[in-house]
Amino acid sequence: MNAEIITIGDELISGSVLDTNASFLAGSLRAIGVEVTWMTSVGDDESNIKDSLLSALERSDVVIVTGGLGPTPDDITAEAAAKTFGRELVLNKEALNRIKELFSGRGLEMTPNNEKQALIPAKAKLITNLVGTACGFALREKGKLIFFLPGVPKELARMTDNSVIPILQRENRELVKFKTATLKVFGLSESKIADLIRDIVERSEPAKISFLPNYPENHIKITARGINDQEAIKIVSKTADGIAEQLGDYVFGRDNQTLEGVVGDLLRSNDHTIAVAESCTGGLISQRLTNIPGSSDYMKRGIVVYSNEAKVDLLHVPAHLIDRFGAVSADVAERMAEGAREFGKTDLGLGITGIAGPGGGTPEKPVGLVFISLADEKGTVVKSYNFRGDRTQVRLVTSETALDLVRRYYLNV
Ligand code: ATP
Repeated sequence: MNAEIITIGDELISGSVLDTNASFLAGSLRAIGVEVTWMTSVGDDESNIKDSLLSALERSDVVIVTGGLGPTPDDITAEAAAKTFGRELVLNKEALNRIKELFSGRGLEMTPNNEKQALIPAKAKLITNLVGTACGFALREKGKLIFFLPGVPKELARMTDNSVIPILQRENRELVKFKTATLKVFGLSESKIADLIRDIVERSEPAKISFLPNYPENHIKITARGINDQEAIKIVSKTADGIAEQLGDYVFGRDNQTLEGVVGDLLRSNDHTIAVAESCTGGLISQRLTNIPGSSDYMKRGIVVYSNEAKVDLLHVPAHLIDRFGAVSADVAERMAEGAREFGKTDLGLGITGIAGPGGGTPEKPVGLVFISLADEKGTVVKSYNFRGDRTQVRLVTSETALDLVRRYYLNV
C-alpha cells in the first residue's frame, strides 16, 4: 500500500508556514508500514486542488489531504473535492451538532460560516474532530481511500492517531513491517563512504540504504521491509553489520548513540576519569560530555582557558612556550592536556587550542588550525588539524575530533 500526502494552503507554497503536517503524516504512515511515495503542496486554488487530487488518485492507494476545511471563503477543499468527484455537498447532522456543542461549550455564538464546515461530500464518512470546528471526512473513489483533514497541526495529529491510522491498519491486512537502523560515522566523507560500500548498496535489496549528512558526522540509514517484524529486523541487521564491517572503526555508534555517550561508556567501563581544558571550543566539549546523565562518574573538570593568562595561571602552561610558539601550538596544547590532568587529578587530560575564525588567522597559522592533545599517565600525544568551515563548524568539528581521539585511545587505533 502506498500513500500520497497533499497539503493545501497559500501560506505553505508562499513559504510563510513550514509544512509540518506532511512530515508528521509521513512518520505516522511509515510507522504502520504504509510507504509515502509522493508529497504535494498546493495553494487555495480550486482547479489546482482538483488536478492534484486526480493525479494522486492515479498513482497512490491512499491519499491524505490537509488544510482548507475552515469557515472562511478561502477554505475551499470540501467544495473542490465534491466537484472533482462529482458529488453534492451535503449537511452532515452529526458534524453540525458537534460544532454547535463546541461553540456552546465555549460560551460563543455560532456563525452561519461555521455551518459551512458541516458540509461534506455525499457518501463521505465523517471523521470527528474533538479539538476544533473543522470536520474531517474520508471517501472512497475508484477503490482508493482519500482522507481530508484540517490544517491545524494539533487537530490533524489527533485525528490521524484516532481515526486515520486505525482505518488504514484495518485496510492494510497484510501489513508490511518497516524496520530501520542508523550507523553513525565520523572521519569519512559521504563520497568516500559511498565508494567503500558501493557493493553492499548495489546488492542491498530488499533493504534501502540512505545517506544522511549530519555535520560533522555522516549517518547511514538502513530501512527494510518484511512480512513480519522478525524478517524486517533480520534484513536490517544483516545489512547494517555488513556496512559496519566495511567501514571499520569509523563507525562510532548506532541508532540513538552519540559520540559523547560512547566516549562516556568507554571511560566508565575502564573506570577512568577525564578533565578537559578548552580554548577555541569555549567549553563545547565539556558541555557535550556533561550532556550525558551520570557523566559526573568520569567527567571531573572542564576548564575554559581562553586567554594566555588563564592558560598560564590555571594550567601552568609556561609563559615562555606561549611567547615562543604562540597560544595555538602543539607545545601549548600538550601542556594544556597535562595541566588539565594534573589540575583535575584524572586519568586523562584533554587540551584543545586553535583558531576558530573568522579573524585571527595568519599565513603560517590559518583559520581552522587546531591542536588537540591527550595526556595519560604514560605520556602525551598531540595532533594538528586544518579544519575548514565557518566558526561554528570549526568549533563543532574540533569537539567531535577531540571526543573521537578519546574513543580511539580506547580502541588503540
Ligand atoms: P481551520 O478551520 O482551523 O482554519 P483548516 O483546515 O481550514 O482549519 P487551514 O486554514 O488551512 O486549516 O490552516 C489552519 C492553520 O494551520 C493555519 O495557521 C495554518 O498555517 C496551519 N497549517 C495549515 N496547513 C499546515 C501544514 N501543512 N503544516 C503546518 N501548519 C499548517
